[in-house]
Amino acid sequence: MARIGFIGLGNMGAPMARNLVKAGHAVTVFDLSPAAIAAIPGATPAESAAAAALQAEFVFTMLPAGPQVRDALLGSGGVAAAAPEDAVLVDCSTIDVATARALAAECGRAFLDAPVSGGVMGAEAGTLTFMVGGDAAAFAAVEPLLGVMGRTAILCGAAGAGQAAKACNNMMLAATMIVTAEAFVLAEKLGLSHQALFDVASKSSGQSWSLTTYCPVPGPVPGSPANRDYAPGFAASLMLKDLGLAVGAAQAEGLELAVGEKALEIYRRFVEEGGGGVDFSGVVRMVR
Ligand code: NAD
Repeated sequence: MARIGFIGLGNMGAPMARNLVKAGHAVTVFDLSPAAIAAIPGATPAESAAAAALQAEFVFTMLPAGPQVRDALLGSGGVAAAAPEDAVLVDCSTIDVATARALAAECGRAFLDAPVSGGVMGAEAGTLTFMVGGDAAAFAAVEPLLGVMGRTAILCGAAGAGQAAKACNNMMLAATMIVTAEAFVLAEKLGLSHQALFDVASKSSGQSWSLTTYCPVPGPVPGSPANRDYAPGFAASLMLKDLGLAVGAAQAEGLELAVGEKALEIYRRFVEEGGGGVDFSGVVRMVR
């Protein structure tokens, strides 16, 4: 049994914390929302983020973005200073690479950036994928807990490497989704049925996860959000956030990303036109 602090009990953090409690760990939880704290039965409620970290061997954060993580870890009454010296801080939020690297350097404790993919369903089922940056010994120590909340954990490299992997992966996902949507709309114009394009491309070089698991038109993949009027799933607003992190990281390196930047532009427009709460595969409607 590990002593765990868990900070940030939203759509993702709550089911992750619940899975740790279910596995028999001693979990102390904090969120700005008292209702979120109350929704983790079996956990010990804390009055502040620092209080959740006081006795912890591991402190997880699952917060919206870099500023909130920085504030929770290093702000007044912050987690890093409160946690025991040998505690491992594990940030599972999706944040920018630069902040992740800075936190690793500044927090004075072992720090891992460990963003996830798999969404709320993966968090509930305990099947998340963790992509981790930081020290190998800290990774080995926390791996059994990642195994409670997820199915796969990959140490990608030094501090920031987990966030880098997440940004790169989601940029590929956004681009393949847009071009898959464009292919289906082109097929419609050319009189080719959705099913025929799917049958060919899923067995050919056009194959991708966006096609075979998350097909953006209804029919070929019964479980895809297209079949439930694009209820998320993975909301377009979150995809826009992740694309912003990828393009921002590229710009900081002086790198131009023709397709990544275009994907950002397309999702920005989709969100501005009211699609923020729609699944990101709903971009097919805008293409059409
Ligand atoms: P959410 O908005 O549902 O939850 C965030 C929680 O953090 C809220 O309960 C909020 O009250 C709390 N919070 C904010 N600031 C705080 C602070 N300073 N101290 C304590 N609590 C604070 O967000 P979410 O969907 O759970 O996402 C969390 C992170 O996971 C984000 O970085 C997101 O990009 C990433 N992510 C989300 C998904 C998804 O499908 N929702 C998938 C992969 C990754």
